[in-house]
Amino acid sequence: MAHFEGNLISKLPNTGTTIFTTISALANKHNAINLSQGFPDFSCAPELIELVSKHMKLGHNQYSPMAGIMPLREKLAEKIESLYKAKLNPETEITITAGATQGLSIAISAFIGEDDEVIILEPAYDSYSPCIQLNKGRAIYYTMQAPDFAINWGNVQKLMNQRTKMIIINTPHNPTASVLGKKDMEKLQRILEGTDIILLSDEVYEHIVFDDNEHQSVLAYPELRKRSICISSFGKTYHNTGWKVGYVTAPENLMTEFRKVFQFGMFSVVTPIQYAFAEILDKPDLYSELGAFYQKKRNFFVDAIKASNFKLLPSNGTYFQCADYSPIADQSDMEFTRWLTSKIGVAAIPLSPFYRNKDDNHIIRFCFAKKDETLKKAADLLCKI
Ligand code: PMP
Ligand code: GLN
Repeated sequence: MAHFEGNLISKLPNTGTTIFTTISALANKHNAINLSQGFPDFSCAPELIELVSKHMKLGHNQYSPMAGIMPLREKLAEKIESLYKAKLNPETEITITAGATQGLSIAISAFIGEDDEVIILEPAYDSYSPCIQLNKGRAIYYTMQAPDFAINWGNVQKLMNQRTKMIIINTPHNPTASVLGKKDMEKLQRILEGTDIILLSDEVYEHIVFDDNEHQSVLAYPELRKRSICISSFGKTYHNTGWKVGYVTAPENLMTEFRKVFQFGMFSVVTPIQYAFAEILDKPDLYSELGAFYQKKRNFFVDAIKASNFKLLPSNGTYFQCADYSPIADQSDMEFTRWLTSKIGVAAIPLSPFYRNKDDNHIIRFCFAKKDETLKKAADLLCKI
């Protein structure tokens, strides 16, 4: 077979294929119930599909403005004002992106250069660190500890220095399902005061928060907001992760730099879907009831695996439930999830890939964004181990 014969220098020599792709492929191979990669196994609102089709038929099939269609940006500004009491200028402070992944990658590319330090709280979503590496920056890690993955902000502060350009936070948090509280935000604000550090806040699960918790957005804290790039995804909120549409908000001076990179990395996002989201945003129930919807699923799943030998960790937000399998096996979490997928027929995500040194705490993550019947079938299998 023909292959490139030049001197190939990988920009990511130690990076393989993501754990989500790897385990989903294994799940398909073994016909396992896939509770690994985070996506629903039920449909999004049929109305949303009709809206996309309507806008395709109306001829909304060409490039949208670079930052996104204005009606969508205006609707988002209204939503953000009603939820977080922040008044954003849709002209200059909101950009529609090809999902949150792209928002994160562009934000890091726009601001991180050689030897710039970025503080990451691990376990961390897997895209952050490679994006930093691609830009020759340096990821500096703070490790959160199970079971509650609380953050000692004083210790985070000790990692900050003149080279620190950015801190990345993620609440509700993937993969741990923990959420930041008001006190966290206040402490974060305090340690950032007087610095030039940019806060990159991944809030893709903003509407999926459980029990007495409330989502803490950087947009609700004026002192944080002025240094923040906030990342959102429609995929999580509207059950259509495959559409890959999201948005980014930031103060104008940060957004100007963001867009300089975005225009050459993407230019604009799929037009008819933007029109569909602009219309569906008139129905706030679809997002305001999402937390209750997923809390019911969490409770259903937790109840169904109560009799198993897994030790469940708290799940305060996201659509993930972490479980400690040490009462069942002492294999590594990678081996255990491969065995679980291929021999038991339930796929889950090991947590070690979310740590710089692949720390193995014998914890795996289940996704409960599934039909109740799927969760029940999986739980029955898990209870037999
Ligand atoms: N950040 C986090 C924390 C995520 O969990 C995900 C995907 N599940 C993303 C970013 C990427 O979102 P998107 O699919 O919109 O690119
Ligand atoms: N964010 C999803 C998860 O955590 C997966 C997204 C992806 O596959 N890149 O499962």
